Amino acid sequence: MSISQRARNLVPSATVVIAATARRLRAQGIDVIGFGQGEPDFDTPEHIKEAAIQAIREGFTNYTASGGIDELKDAVTTKLKRDNDLVYTRDQILISCGGKHSLFNVFQALLEPGDEVIIPAPYWVSFPEQVKVCGGKPVFVQTHEREGFRLHRELVEPLVTPRTKILLLNSPCNPTGAAVSLAGLESLADLATEWGFWLLSDETYEALVYDEHQHLSIASLSDRVYAQTIVVNSLSKAYSMTGWRVGYTAASKEIIRAMDGLQSQETSNPTSIAQRAAVAALTGPQVTVQRMREEFDRRRRYIVERLNAMPGIRCIKPQGAFYVFPNVSGMYGRHYAGTIIRNSSDFTTYLLEVARIAVVPGIEFGNDEHVRISYATSLENIKEGMDRMAEAVKGLG
Ligand code: PLP
Repeated sequence: MSISQRARNLVPSATVVIAATARRLRAQGIDVIGFGQGEPDFDTPEHIKEAAIQAIREGFTNYTASGGIDELKDAVTTKLKRDNDLVYTRDQILISCGGKHSLFNVFQALLEPGDEVIIPAPYWVSFPEQVKVCGGKPVFVQTHEREGFRLHRELVEPLVTPRTKILLLNSPCNPTGAAVSLAGLESLADLATEWGFWLLSDETYEALVYDEHQHLSIASLSDRVYAQTIVVNSLSKAYSMTGWRVGYTAASKEIIRAMDGLQSQETSNPTSIAQRAAVAALTGPQVTVQRMREEFDRRRRYIVERLNAMPGIRCIKPQGAFYVFPNVSGMYGRHYAGTIIRNSSDFTTYLLEVARIAVVPGIEFGNDEHVRISYATSLENIKEGMDRMAEAVKGLG
């Protein structure tokens, strides 16, 4: 008896592992500041929780339609029109158990063995693993720190082949916070229409954009691009609803039908109660989103300034999400207690052991010169964490 090759090939989510290590150390009484988490440190807004409580009281606790309740699909189409100027009908929407599940369903519905999926690097850890589990081949396109990690056509074009099935876009990006410019989106859309591959646009962080940056969904560029785009979004980050597990996909009826069929055999349906909460989130007041964005912005400015003040570390100011991705390669070759720091994992271990701060090594996102620091934690924690990191950096030989 043996475990399948498919399961053995899978790399467990590094961010989940780091968060668990930080929790374990804290349980041992060690004061660790966690910068690993990918979730807002705010509570789910009251009116959203109330909608869920109401659903329970009303006995709305049974299976729902596999692809989600009509009321939520309608809330999604209204949101897509309101925020993204995109027109979809109910049968073009599928509600899933989080954006992660939406993405998995997309890959399951579209990929044949050996199909290539172009994934911009640095990438969110789950993208390549999901593609592999679904039989596809991840093809990485490196974005560059010197260009602010911006994705554009010149980077992607040399990697396109007749086997390219999907170009994945994640703007704003986890882990770099980079957003694709309008010109970048247009040039990538042209490439997709010339070759006829799908654009899979993961817009999970759309609500969290800063400075002059405005989020634009690539699907809204033209009718032709709309027809070739699959939009995935999630309620996790914008509404502090990570534990509720609600995400959605907007695409052609044909794709949605295929995904719905798969989902009906995987999970039956997303949680009834969470779906009611999601309706309240999407149709209710959006002021909590704005407040959270402002608070993240304050933290972003602070953390970027602190990191750039540390000798040997440099950090570009991200345009979105709640992560910074500083270059820490200036620390490589330096040492402590007889140990030499050679890569992002060594530096992460040093920070955890000496500074008692938990970050995620860049290698997990496909770039070993950086680490990812989430600022989804209080400004107080960020101040203390940056003080500790500055001391630790000074302490290296
Ligand atoms: N896409 C990106 C880029 C993410 O960072 C995440 C979560 O970290 C997700 C999708 C999925 O989020 P969820 O499954 O909670 O909706």
